[in-house]
Parts: sequence; C-alpha cells; structure tokens
Amino acid sequence: QRQERIRNFAIIAHIDHGKSTLADRILEHTKTVSERDLQEQTLDAMDLERERGITIKLNSAQLKYEAADGEEYTFHLIDTPGHVDFSYEVSRSLAACEGALLIVDASQGIEAQTLANVFLALEHDLEIIPVINKIDLPSAEPERIKKEIEDVIGLDTSETILASAKDGTGTEEILEHIVKRVPAPQGNVNEPLEALIFDSLYDSYRGVIAYVRIVQGTIKKGEKIRMMQTEKEFEVSEVGVFKPNPVSADELSVGDVGFITASIKNVGDSRVGDTVTHANAPAPAPLPGYQRMKPMVFCGVYPVDPNQYTGLRDALERLELNDSSLEFEAEVSQALGFGFRCGFLGLLHMEIIQERIEREYGIELITTAPSVIYNVYLNDGEVIEIHNPSNMPDQQQVMAVEEPFVKANVMVPNDFVGPVMEICQAKRGEFQDMKYLDENRVNIVYDLPLTEIVYDFFDQLKSNTRGYASFDYELMGYKESKLVKMDILLNGEQVDALSVIVHRDMAYYRGKAIVEKLKELIPRQQFEVPVQASIGNKVIARSTIKAIRKNVLSKCYGGDVSRKRKLLEKQKEGKRRMKNVGKVEVPQEAFMSVLQMD
Ligand code: GDP
Ligand code: MG
Repeated sequence: QRQERIRNFAIIAHIDHGKSTLADRILEHTKTVSERDLQEQTLDAMDLERERGITIKLNSAQLKYEAADGEEYTFHLIDTPGHVDFSYEVSRSLAACEGALLIVDASQGIEAQTLANVFLALEHDLEIIPVINKIDLPSAEPERIKKEIEDVIGLDTSETILASAKDGTGTEEILEHIVKRVPAPQGNVNEPLEALIFDSLYDSYRGVIAYVRIVQGTIKKGEKIRMMQTEKEFEVSEVGVFKPNPVSADELSVGDVGFITASIKNVGDSRVGDTVTHANAPAPAPLPGYQRMKPMVFCGVYPVDPNQYTGLRDALERLELNDSSLEFEAEVSQALGFGFRCGFLGLLHMEIIQERIEREYGIELITTAPSVIYNVYLNDGEVIEIHNPSNMPDQQQVMAVEEPFVKANVMVPNDFVGPVMEICQAKRGEFQDMKYLDENRVNIVYDLPLTEIVYDFFDQLKSNTRGYASFDYELMGYKESKLVKMDILLNGEQVDALSVIVHRDMAYYRGKAIVEKLKELIPRQQFEVPVQASIGNKVIARSTIKAIRKNVLSKCYGGDVSRKRKLLEKQKEGKRRMKNVGKVEVPQEAFMSVLQMD
C-alpha cells in the first residue's frame, strides 16, 4: 500500500537554527535535487529570501527515500519560516503534516520561537522529533541542550538526533527516524475528495495555483471540482507535486501534498483554508480550515506615481491570495492622495510586503509610519476603532483610549537580565514573571504595549544584549492608556500622513525627536520651512528647515554640459520618492521618522 509509505513532515525551529540548510541536506541525500542544482537554502526560492537569508514563505518538496527496511517511501517536506510574524505560515504547514522535525541550535539552545513553534506542533498533534543541529561548532553543547529540551519543553530526548546540516552528519538518521516515528497519513482513497488548500499563488498563465494536502479521496486532471466555501466550480487542468520544482502528476491521492490548477482567474474564488471536493460527489462537510490571523500593525501605502493606483490594488489582491493575513482597504490622504490602508502581522511582515510590491510589481511606494488599532471611547458613549492616527477625534470628544498589550517572553543569558528589564520598563512594560531555563539562561515575561514593540523594541533588545536575546509575543488584550494624537505641521500646514498617537508622558520627547528628524530628512527648499509638533492646538516642539542658499547648477560655471546633465539626473533620482505636501517636498523617509527615536 502506497499510503502506508507516505510521510509528511515540517521542519520547525527558531530563526537561523538551520531549517533551510537541513532541508538542503535532505534534498541532496535523497537525490531530489542534483548536486549541480543545489544552492544554499535551495527551497528559499524568492529573491528576497535568498538575499536576506530568511525563509518567508513555507516551501514544500516531495522526495523519494529508500529506507533501511528496503522499501521506498514518499516524503513531503515543508520548510517553514522562523520569525514570529510568519507563524501563520507555520501553523498552515503543520495542518498538512503528521510529524515535525524540531531543530535546535547546539550552541544557542531553546529560543523564543523554538517554544512558540513547539506549541503549534503540539496543537496539531504532531509527532515531534528533536534534532540538535550545528554539532560541528566548537561551542556546541549537545548534552546541555538535550537537558534543556527535556526540562523546558518536556519532550523525551532519549532518541534525539545529533546533526550538522553543514557537513551532513545525522541526515541519514533523521530520515530513518521519520520513517519509524512519523505516522502514515490517515484517510481513505475511496471516500469523496477532501483537499485542504494550505497555500496558493497566482500565475498569469495558469491562474491560481492551489497548494493542497489530500485528506480523503483522489483528484485527477479533467475532473470537476468545487470549492466548498465559495461554492465555485472548475475543471482541473493540472495536478502535480513539487520536486521541488512543480512537476505534473497523473493523480494526487490520500496523504499527498501537491498542487492543483483549474484556470481559476478570480483570486477570490479559491481561498487558503478552503476545501476542494468533487462537484458531482462532494464531501459531506468542509475541513476545519484555518483561523484567520488578525493583522496587528497598519500603515498607509501609496504609489509614488498616482497613475499606479490600480496597479497597486491588483498587486495587493494577488499578495493577499498568497498571504491571507494581509488586509487592505482604500484610503485617501490629503498629503499623499489615493492609496490603501494595509494591515500586517508585524513590522517584518510589513517590510516584506512593501518590498515585494516594489520588486515583483515594479511599483514605487510611499508608506506611512505603522500604527496599531486603538479603541476610542467617545463622550457620547460611542466606541470606535482607530487604525489611522489622523482619524483620531478631537481630544474634547474623547473620554478614554485603549491600546493593545502583548505578553512578551524574552529569553536571555543571566548577565543581561538588568538591561532587558530596563528596556521593558522604559517601554511602559509591566513585569510579570522570571524563570530560569537552566543555570545561565532566563525567561523574562512582561506585559508591553504593542506600539512600543512596533517602534524599536527588538532593535534595542538586540543591541543591549549583544544579540543574545530572543523574543516572542502574543496579543493579550486592550488596556486604557493616556494616549493623545500628535500632529505635525510643515510650513504651518498639518500633514495628515505624519500624525501619530503617543503616550502623554512621552509626547514632548517624541515630538522633539520627530521635528529634529524631519529637519534632517526634508531637503532645503527655496524658502524657510517651520516644522512643528502639536497636541490639540498647542505646539510642543519646533524646528526650522533653512532656505537653500545656492543653486546646485551654479557650481558648474555654465561650461560642462555633461556634468550638468549628470547633476540634474542625480537630483531627479533623489526626487523619485518625494511627495509634494503643500509647497514642501517631502521624501519617503520622513513619513517613517516617528520610528527613529534617537
Ligand atoms: P533557518 O533560518 O532555520 O532556515 O536557518 P538556515 O538554514 O538559513 O541557517 C542559518 C545559518 O546557520 C546559515 O548561515 C547556515 O549556513 C548555518 N548553519 C546551518 N546548519 C549549520 C550547521 O550544522 N553547522 C554550522 N556550523 N552552521 C550551520
Ligand atoms: Mg529558513
């Protein structure tokens, strides 16, 4: 029976512990990818992933493995991202698997996302196989890490594999453990089709490519299918598997992980989490699907060139298909014109989406500073949600404002407990708990306002702990805070896209920092430009951008035409990301100035 020899597993770990490198070793060992085609982190197909050295999207591959028992097994491997912003990708991957390889760096030990991912795997009832990686490092301490896994996670480590994804140590052992310990998929080939869409992307020729895990039944080319949530019907044009490049197959059967195309041109017709079934013999009920992740961070996204507005909308629609935690709605700004308010899971998610729009769709963007969602209680009893600071009502109308708080786990070596607590305190954190993971590592728990995390919490944490701290957070709810809207005026005109919501006790300090930063970022104009920060009608900080003294071209003494042209081009280049706000030219960075606190 083929089904008994299928093994589906995900690779989970904290960022940088070696998931993608181990995936490389597995692809190599099973000869799925020839040595010639093997690059580092082969499965990280996106340019952005390769450049940044991080996995953003889940990536899957089918491999054949000849096991020690003489049988050939079919493995479906899913490599997952480690960063907290992409945990949604991890949880979707896990729903397509029966087992998980838990990679722990032999010199670092358990980190914040190691734990977070283990909890996700346990929620999905997966068989977890611990792998201690990077044992080639001189600083590796496999025995200590083993103990940590036992003490902190409570996993049985008697069968832990010691590996080096760098030199291939342990790869064979890992594959054998997968065969022995990960259960074969349940389900019945003869039942009506149930295929879970765990990811999808859009291809301009083939339409939507749905990544599926077949839970019941089989699917072939030419069959009529129905999407159970949207009730839309299609004819299958191709089924296939990732090896790791997409390859056509005759059929996909119970336990398989692969893809389906069916000339689905409208991206809304096939959603991640939906169940695919046969139109003429449908399954009785759809699979549970996924809980939608609610975006926590919002910002305005505007095309530099207003003509690219519809292009931007198309780009967002397609990215949303591939990434259902992305949200957007049309928005108009006095300063920036027509654009979108977009919601993200966190700052890295926000950065990645912006970069993908610019690269993959060639649209240059102006983005505004990120904001969280505030609950605003008005004097007349109404409660409104605000995720754009410029929509905050007048202070006189506001009775109270609540902001989201998160429970943050920070893991650090002992020596850094002091600095970590100082940062958390400065970020308006409330101390909750502190536990020793082992003799020299501590987990510190704080309740913190999400806004502070969005600003520069992680950067500060990293720089004050020499990079040793890792952290993870989950939303815990809303709490009242003394928050006020701060407006920024350029040349006496309020700029809606620059408004921020700040804590009253920090308003003066932030206001001062922002006007100073703007003075630095906004180029000199023909005239003097006052920059002011105000709360209500009260100006709390100001700076002045001096007028230009000389024309750049006057330096060229008229003669050298090519030099002149170069200078003009350079000026134009510098202007690309500028927006005219009233009479003042404002560069992209200025809209992010609230993030730069020092
Ligand atoms: P991921 O974020 O978990 O996918 O981690 P990567 O696979 O991208 O690896 C992060 C870094 O660790 C890369 O620079 C790898 O070359 C390195 N690395 C991965 N496995 C090993 C190992 O076994 N030994 C050593 N010395 N380095 C490793
Ligand atoms: Mg990776």
